[in-house]
Amino acid sequence: MAVQWLLVCHGLITLLVMVSFLCGQWPIFQGTFIQRIHSFITFGAYDYLRRFVHLACGSRGTDALYSVEYYCCDRPNPIIQVLYLLIIGGTYYFIVQSSFGYIPGYYLSAVHRYTSFLAVGVGILLFLLTSFSDPGVVNSANVSQYLSAYPYDNIIFSEKECSTCKIPKPARSKHCSICDRCVARFDHHCAWMNNCIGERNTRYFMAFIIWHFLICMYGIVALALILAGRMKELQVIHILTDYYGIENSFRKLAPLVLQWLSNSYNTQILIMVFLAVVSLLLGGFFTYHAKLCLTNTTTNESFKWQEQLSWQRKVNEAKASAEALKASLGELDQENKPRESKWRTFFRRSRLQELELVKNNIYDKGFLHNIYEVAIPFSTRRSFLVNKPKSG
Ligand SMILES: [Zn+2]
Ligand SMILES: [Zn+2]
Repeated sequence: MAVQWLLVCHGLITLLVMVSFLCGQWPIFQGTFIQRIHSFITFGAYDYLRRFVHLACGSRGTDALYSVEYYCCDRPNPIIQVLYLLIIGGTYYFIVQSSFGYIPGYYLSAVHRYTSFLAVGVGILLFLLTSFSDPGVVNSANVSQYLSAYPYDNIIFSEKECSTCKIPKPARSKHCSICDRCVARFDHHCAWMNNCIGERNTRYFMAFIIWHFLICMYGIVALALILAGRMKELQVIHILTDYYGIENSFRKLAPLVLQWLSNSYNTQILIMVFLAVVSLLLGGFFTYHAKLCLTNTTTNESFKWQEQLSWQRKVNEAKASAEALKASLGELDQENKPRESKWRTFFRRSRLQELELVKNNIYDKGFLHNIYEVAIPFSTRRSFLVNKPKSG
């Protein structure tokens, strides 16, 4: 029974650490232990390490640590790319080692030995494609085409020049401080890919996430079918009911079958738990990005809109309190005039606020058009190339 509890603990701890690391800063977790774990993983642990290094090696040690930090976090580097390859390679290796001996089995044909290899191969190809593709770097040769492809909305993007690249900054672009270049329709800098995600490679990035989600699902289903097949081949239910005289009901058999599975096939169960946690995260991440794609917004723009809306909200609040002050001063002058009901004033004000707090995204042109823009980026179209200004 100890093995089952070990498996449950493993699953819960993996889930907790991953959720805390990736989602711990979300407002919903504010003040909870998930936020505290997030702070520890992202800053706290590093802070303790810095203090320890300073105590042990003095300022020379901390200087070395800062150089490592600068290389790892502020400069392009392949550390997390290698980590991705280790994770996917390691997981596939453990699956081959522990489970390929049961293929072909009762429920799985031999073809899954090859299809699983193909699925992982395509996953790695998508990773390489996203990592090494041009995200849509803006340079003096293509800046005028990008300027005409993306008009300024004068809300979150207005005409300005990139102070580093010394070229006009097209709307929706951003200067990536890690890669030190301007990228069109900038989404974010992805450390896993060691590349920016922008106008030209958002499509590969989306394909990468959904493909890895599907691989995880495929892995879970295939391993579950292997275990179900082993149960059938070894006649586990038959032995339990006929030989040991256990009652043939789900309630009586399920704990015994689970105990047998976790004792005999714990590697497969561990891998299934890991794949379930990863697929949950990938599913959430894909849903978030799919929603952004359907509304033609980038991650960078969603932050800009948040700032814009909170600024608008503050302006509205200031306007509302100025109006209230004006009204109360007016009341003193117009004592005889019939008063407006408090409810009417309230609804009038809230309607005004709602009207002003609309996110007016001029790049959103309907979801079919938005998907088309991600699938076939402007810069890969003939019209973009035709627009090229003549040199000289
Ligand atoms: Zn720039
Ligand atoms: Zn970048």
